[in-house]
Amino acid sequence: MRVFKFGGASVKDARGVKNVINVLQKVGNTNILIVVSAMGKTTNALETIVDHYLNQSEELKNSIDFIKKYHIEILSNLFENKQHPIFGKINSLIHDMETTLKRNKSTRYDYVYDQIVCYGELIATRIVSAYLAEVGYKNHWLDARDVIKTNDIYRDAAVDWKITQQKIDKAIDKNGLIVTQGFIASDDNNFTTTLGREGSDYTAGIFAYCTNATSVTIWKDVPGVLNGDPRVFENTKLLSQISYEEAIELAFYGASVIHPKTLQPLQRKEIPLYVKSFLNPENEGTSVKKGQRLVPQLPCYIVKKNQILLSLASLDFSFIVEDNISEIFSLFHAYQLKVDLIQNSAISFSVCLDDKFDRFAQLLKHLKPKFNVSYEKNVSLFTIRHFDKNSILSLEQNQDILLKQSTKETYQMVVKQ
Ligand code: ASP
Repeated sequence: MRVFKFGGASVKDARGVKNVINVLQKVGNTNILIVVSAMGKTTNALETIVDHYLNQSEELKNSIDFIKKYHIEILSNLFENKQHPIFGKINSLIHDMETTLKRNKSTRYDYVYDQIVCYGELIATRIVSAYLAEVGYKNHWLDARDVIKTNDIYRDAAVDWKITQQKIDKAIDKNGLIVTQGFIASDDNNFTTTLGREGSDYTAGIFAYCTNATSVTIWKDVPGVLNGDPRVFENTKLLSQISYEEAIELAFYGASVIHPKTLQPLQRKEIPLYVKSFLNPENEGTSVKKGQRLVPQLPCYIVKKNQILLSLASLDFSFIVEDNISEIFSLFHAYQLKVDLIQNSAISFSVCLDDKFDRFAQLLKHLKPKFNVSYEKNVSLFTIRHFDKNSILSLEQNQDILLKQSTKETYQMVVKQ
């Protein structure tokens, strides 16, 4: 079986959904499990709904109407018969979402978030599945929450691999065509959980691992993995092949083309990953496999924006050593701050942090009594893998550099945005 993943950009409108058929026509349509994300920017729009709901904003109704209108318009462009049951199905999913909000008693943001944002993927997969069936591709719609089981760390749930494997073994017919959601899962109490923003790639990795898939293909609006994000860097080139290790490094430093957690399950079973263009499905794209050398051998540029550069120094000129560092890292872990870069000297310690969950203010409360704390918000972290002199020179030009460091393969700098 092969696993395909179609992200939000690939199904952002009716044309995108129709193009899924085009891809299947060209590359095959049986023994395939298709993972689909929420359409276009739906997850962002659902986040707005959660905010309006928890802040009791009068805008709540408008934000729900926006989601409804957006999907109904896509449906209208896909289905000529306006009596098709899918119209009722999507309306009833949105009604379920409103009922969930009405019945909810919790004020825990992360919990409410997961119960609501999952509707983006549920709606998208219902639409794709119904359209596939309409044009003759019989398929099975699978609720990913019935098979992917996690702990209850909402918004950043960790997979329980053993139960997930058992459930997938029971639920999946490897000979058919299956449509399921990325990003969403469920905990022991069957509450919805999510795997982190952009987590649908990871879902594809989970299904591939548990079904011993022959490959995973991520269909993108770019030709494959490039040596830099074309929205940020000029003259980017396609990488035709890279190793799992390289892909993990690139994803870790912030290359948004593959979600960082995706590679680990794949490399454990040596399942190849392909990143290809959904507009030109027959083109080679990028292959990610074990031990492949980087082709072509080029510097790879990555930028992570909206990071925080935090510097800590001891209050009394004592060294910042193992016990302080371990305490500082436990706090990063407790507040779900991801560390992108570390630099330390005897009495000071600097890190570049990704504050995805907006917990930095809470962290500061713990750190301020113990250290001299300074920080700069809204900085960008640039990384060059396989750097050379010229690549560093051109990147450093006109930048206000706050910190830089390099190892044999990796150059990094933190700059003001
Ligand atoms: N829809 C989710 C998001 O936008 C998951 C994904 O697209 O991978 O983050």
